[in-house]
Amino acid sequence: MLPSGAPGGSTTVAAVIGDPVRHSRSPAILNAAFAAAGLDWTFAAFEVPRGRGAEAAAAVRSLGLGGLSVTMPHKQEVIASLDRLTGDAEALGAVNCIERDGETLVGHNTDGAGFLAGLAAEEFDPSGARCVVLGAGGASRAVVLALAGAGAAEVVVVNRTPDKALVAAALAGRAGRTAGPESLGDALASADLLVNATPVGMADGDQSPVDPSLIRPALVVSDLVYHPADTPLMESARQAGAKAHNGLGMLVGQAAVAFGIWTGGQAPVAEMARAAVEPPEN
Ligand code: NAP
Repeated sequence: MLPSGAPGGSTTVAAVIGDPVRHSRSPAILNAAFAAAGLDWTFAAFEVPRGRGAEAAAAVRSLGLGGLSVTMPHKQEVIASLDRLTGDAEALGAVNCIERDGETLVGHNTDGAGFLAGLAAEEFDPSGARCVVLGAGGASRAVVLALAGAGAAEVVVVNRTPDKALVAAALAGRAGRTAGPESLGDALASADLLVNATPVGMADGDQSPVDPSLIRPALVVSDLVYHPADTPLMESARQAGAKAHNGLGMLVGQAAVAFGIWTGGQAPVAEMARAAVEPPEN
């Protein structure tokens, strides 16, 4: 490591690709992790347009990158350049983390493990829990698979597009089922955990995706949205006496899993969490 901590000729480079990617918290989180661990590594963000994700993933070999994070719109596209996928990445058909082992590229999906790490930080054990997941996109599918893998008793997927809900619920096997948005109240009446895996709550003026009267004090609400830090759903959950947390734990958790895959070391999670909430440098 150079005295200033600036990258030098022997620095290992890792990066994220996406479009857009300028808003990403990953460089702040991973650079804090590398610094705290005393590693001569640096993390950059590359804005790679749709259609060039596979090409960028292949360059991990030629550039000798230490690892690559992958975000929208490349999570499917990069698979064409990889040698193999882990079980989660295969089941989800999506890769958010690429490991390089010599010339071999392995595709992982760390969203589910990151989500479970976030739940653990909130001291929620999903084993035996009855769970309701709003939304059926990429984040929902990772969460549904992870909850079932962690032994959830039931995972109910509620989505405005029923076909996508069926695909997501199938990832939970026998624990999975779907319910229409009109049946959300019934699903929540006996639920232990509610996960918001829709973007509702991110935009100014968004309302809670759940009628506040449906939230019981015993429910734990996990909103995957992390900007803003407190969403209308989280605020109404707290008003109802329920516990609520945002998606920062999942964001930090998936980065911590990636750190472990790439470096083989234990991630400095506290420093990563601090970096995740610090304002962007601009
Ligand atoms: P996605 O693939 O686009 O899926 C979005 C889902 O939300 C779809 O099922 C969509 O329904 C539903 N949806 C969108 N707008 C809606 C609305 N106005 N009302 C009801 N449902 C709506 O997105 P994603 O990648 O899964 O991400 C979902 C959210 O999770 C985003 O806010 C993202 O920032 C967050 N996320 C957080 C983390 C983290 O680390 N904390 C990681 C990944 C994602 P249809 O199927 O009907 O279109």
